[in-house]
Amino acid sequence: MFIKISSEKDIKKLYKKLWLYKSFLYRKTFFSSNNNIDINTKYIIDALNIKRRRDRITFIFDKTCEIIDAKNKGVDICNFKGRVCLAHQCNKNKTYYDGCCRICLYKTTKGCPTKNIACKLYNCRMVKETFDVYNYNDLKILRLLSLKNRIIVRHDYFSLREDVLKDLYSYSLIYSTIRMVSRIMKNYLKVRKIDKYEGGKK
Ligand code: SF4
Ligand code: SF4
Repeated sequence: MFIKISSEKDIKKLYKKLWLYKSFLYRKTFFSSNNNIDINTKYIIDALNIKRRRDRITFIFDKTCEIIDAKNKGVDICNFKGRVCLAHQCNKNKTYYDGCCRICLYKTTKGCPTKNIACKLYNCRMVKETFDVYNYNDLKILRLLSLKNRIIVRHDYFSLREDVLKDLYSYSLIYSTIRMVSRIMKNYLKVRKIDKYEGGKK
């Protein structure tokens, strides 16, 4: 079977029927589009044409990161001055370094070394009030994921891309949640240990 998306009406229908098109009933259907279609809809059509579950999940994960990065390109939303971000620059009582990443094991002096949708979508009140940033609901491509995976991409903070993908590949929310919680705890304990060690050296 073949479904062509070429007009505004087709796009509306596509979004309305995503829950059906992403199902196994359409595993033998090929979707195509015109060249003038917007890039985010094009990614959705490309994802629908990927029939292997893991490959589709990986594609959706990477494209979502690309879509968020493209939106924020050239806009310094966290406006770091040295190691202090916008939200903490006016905090006179205590200096918090490295913004939201301060309790993450993976942070580097050059920023985040990985890709993580939950982290990319997290914006504090100050950023939300100052900039036009994406919210979860703006990212229609995420509707192609199962309910379990939509929960995971929103909550899997402080994790490497490969670990998030493993959580998404699993069929069990309980298994993925155990992995997520144990990673967060390990991350927290390791960061505390590093902080204590570095504090002790001063
Ligand atoms: S989202 Fe807000 S709190 Fe987090 S790093 Fe950016 S400015 Fe700082
Ligand atoms: S995984 Fe998240 S918290 Fe950790 S460095 Fe990257 S953006 Fe920051």
